[in-house]
Amino acid sequence: MTKSRGYAAQSPETDLAPWDFERREIGPHDVLIDILYCGVCHSDLHQIKNDWFPGIFPMVPGHEIVGRIAAVGGHVTKFKVGDLAGVGCMVESCGQCEDCTHNLEQFCSDGVQTYNGMGHDGIPTLGGYSNNIVVTEHFALHISDKISLAAVAPLLCAGITTYSPLRYWKVGPGHKVAVLGLGGLGHMAVKFAVAFGADVTVLSTSPSKEADAKALGAHHFVVTKDPEQVAAVTKTFDFIVDTVSGAHDINMYLNMLKSRGTHIALGAPSEPYVIPAFSLLVGGKAVAGSGIGGIAETQEMLDFCAEHNIVSDIEIIDIKDIHAAYERMEKGDVRYRFVIDMATL
Ligand code: NAP
Ligand code: ZN
Repeated sequence: MTKSRGYAAQSPETDLAPWDFERREIGPHDVLIDILYCGVCHSDLHQIKNDWFPGIFPMVPGHEIVGRIAAVGGHVTKFKVGDLAGVGCMVESCGQCEDCTHNLEQFCSDGVQTYNGMGHDGIPTLGGYSNNIVVTEHFALHISDKISLAAVAPLLCAGITTYSPLRYWKVGPGHKVAVLGLGGLGHMAVKFAVAFGADVTVLSTSPSKEADAKALGAHHFVVTKDPEQVAAVTKTFDFIVDTVSGAHDINMYLNMLKSRGTHIALGAPSEPYVIPAFSLLVGGKAVAGSGIGGIAETQEMLDFCAEHNIVSDIEIIDIKDIHAAYERMEKGDVRYRFVIDMATL
């Protein structure tokens, strides 16, 4: 077995605290990654609080993992010891279904998430708030040494989750795109939509984020608590990329879509959307969703970021300060992703 140390929640009621545990032996197709940085996603907070479903405890969160390969199994071809590597939100899938064979492992019915999942070996998965991880090479990504490693970590979830829908809907020049919620996902959505040539508006509850939004490349900023500003963008957008983590009424935003516009749900509040049929019938609007991205597309996104020097705007934290980071995240005060320096473990 592989000895590991991390921060775990022992139950939904307890804080994260140091915890020693074991990971599986390195199998023939596995790599062992010594973790250097791990991003803090709002999904970590949802899951340790059982917002979505009863979680598996003890829970070690973390699915924005970057580090260095420390050992490789006998059949590994993708990596060698010393390479940089990343792991995102998933670590296993069946490899044979229609989704897996079309590079959509994230939708595999037998997929396993990086933590709070049940591995195919019957052992619960444990995430990246830890000093190492064992993963099959298929689910490890190559990381460029040309961009800041800590600032790359959030690309493994916030990056791919926003890149994938913008590519799927072929967002580019001539499109008006609104990014709803300027947090970890939102700030990456702004960077990608700008890089792809769209006209980008940030829709935010926080007037204090306007200067940051513009610095990220957004062309316009709308405070969604101001009815005049909201009215001024009626029927404006081709797409709204919704990254909001908490309960919100999307009907106000559907009014901002042009006819035939699409509201893309990325955020995962625990409360359901309530949408009267007429909000969709009038104007022929669509509400769609998108979940992270497949492994091939994640590598494509990482390579695109290395080529265009796109990284996340981060605040590096000590792991002992994780609860203070969660408190700020709950208040919408993330600028724009916390990343844990694993040397502080
Ligand atoms: P985050 O950094 O906390 O950002 C969320 C932002 O949404 C906040 O900064 C705030 O921005 C806004 N917001 C929060 N609560 C709101 C409310 N009640 N009404 C209106 N706006 C609100 O979170 P994140 O890490 O980006 O994650 C966002 C959501 O995406 C989470 O639910 C997460 O679980 C989900 N997620 C989904 C996927 C996927 O595959 N689809 C992947 C990763 C994460 P302003 O201050 O600008 O208003
Ligand atoms: Zn995430």
